[in-house]
This record gives sequence, C-alpha cells and structure tokens, in this order.
Amino acid sequence: MAFNIAIDGPAGAGKSTIAKKVAGALSYIYVDTGAMYRAMALYFLREGIAPEDEAAISEACGKITVTLSNENGEQHVFLNGEDVNGQIRTEEVGSMTSKTSIYGKVREKLTQLQREMARTTDLIMDGRDIGTCVLPNAQVKVYLTASVKTRGERRFLELKEKGVECSLEKICEDIRKRDERDMGREIAPLRQAEDAVLIDSSFLSIEEVADKILALVKERNV
Ligand code: C5P
Repeated sequence: MAFNIAIDGPAGAGKSTIAKKVAGALSYIYVDTGAMYRAMALYFLREGIAPEDEAAISEACGKITVTLSNENGEQHVFLNGEDVNGQIRTEEVGSMTSKTSIYGKVREKLTQLQREMARTTDLIMDGRDIGTCVLPNAQVKVYLTASVKTRGERRFLELKEKGVECSLEKICEDIRKRDERDMGREIAPLRQAEDAVLIDSSFLSIEEVADKILALVKERNV
C-alpha cells in the first residue's frame, strides 16, 4: 500500500512550500490539489461562465480534462492538454476557484483523480479536504494553519517582491472571505480531520514545520 501524507489548511498557511520540502526530503511526489481546482476555474473564466451558474459549470465539467506531470520536482497542471501553470496564480483565478469549487460535479471529478493517484504512489497531497474526504486513510494527516495577520503579511511580501502594488488590508480581507467560503461550503468544507495533527505556523520557520511533519512520518512509517 502506498504511503500518503495529507496536508490541509487555509490559504497562505504555507502548505505548498512545506509540502514541497517534505516531498523532496522523502523523494515522494507532491500533489497540489489547489492547482487542479484552479485549472478548472480558468476554464470557466475563459468560457465566460458565471460562478453562480451551477448548471453551466456542471455541464462544462464533462468537457474538461485535468492532468498533472512532475518535472524536476515541479508540478505542472494541464487543462485539456495545455500547460496552464503560468496562468492559474492570479487573484482573479483564485477567487473564481473558491466560488466554483463548492459544486458537487467539480469536486467529484477531481476527488476521483486524486484518489487514483494516491492509491499506487507514495505522495504528499495538500488542499482543503484531503484528510477529511479525499484520503481518509492517509497514514499522516496535518492541519496547517496560521493567523490571518501572518498569512496576509506573507502574501503582501510575496506580491511586493514581484513588484505588484497591493494593500495589506485588502489582502487580509480577501483571505478572510476565502476562509469563510472554504469553511462554510456544504460539500467537503475545510476543517481539521479528527485524527489530524494541528500545526500553527504563525511563529515557526518553514524548516521547523517540515521537521515536525518528517518526525510524524518517521513515527508512523514503522
Ligand atoms: O490551495 P489554493 O489556494 O491553490 O486553492 C485554491 C482554492 O481551491 C481554495 O480556496 C479552495 O476553494 C479550492 N480547493 C478546494 N479543495 C482542495 C484544494 C483547493 O476546494 N482540495
């Protein structure tokens, strides 16, 4: 049986940075499920489908194929064969993603794909519903969080480094809204699985969090 590590938590808690580090240390594949939801949202945006139009979104799901590849430890996501890595990280796509990932058809499609990958491959998968819904039998489950202020400041610095003008207030507001949507939705809401270990990264370095997870893996991997 493959060894699966599930990492869930709100936007900006550091999931992907840490998951990549842990995957590198263990030579496991890293699967960023947010990128898969983002690829689908990009399709809906391109087609001009309104996020409220569940019927159109459900129908469009039948026309979408999402695939992943791993190149030098970097995940690439393909939307109907097109590498869309460079287009899914905008605020517009992020917001569309949290509005459209609430629908059953969207979740069904990606959950199935994610389970299939985890069945045969040792991997670390991050998202919002991995420990609770996608991989309830994962050997290690972590719920990684941080305060809104910390997450907002991290995002602010990230954008500033890229030369993007932004306000900390607005970023924190967007994070709050995204948390509310992800935690409040009916299907597979973001919450800590009962058997997940809670890690608050507000006052921890990336290395400290990665080490905690590696220690959990060592404990369970007997
Ligand atoms: O992790 P990331 O910020 O890329 O995720 C974007 C959005 O995708 C989240 O805000 C959430 O709405 C959705 N998502 C989800 N389930 C997952 C991963 C992401 O609903 N497993």
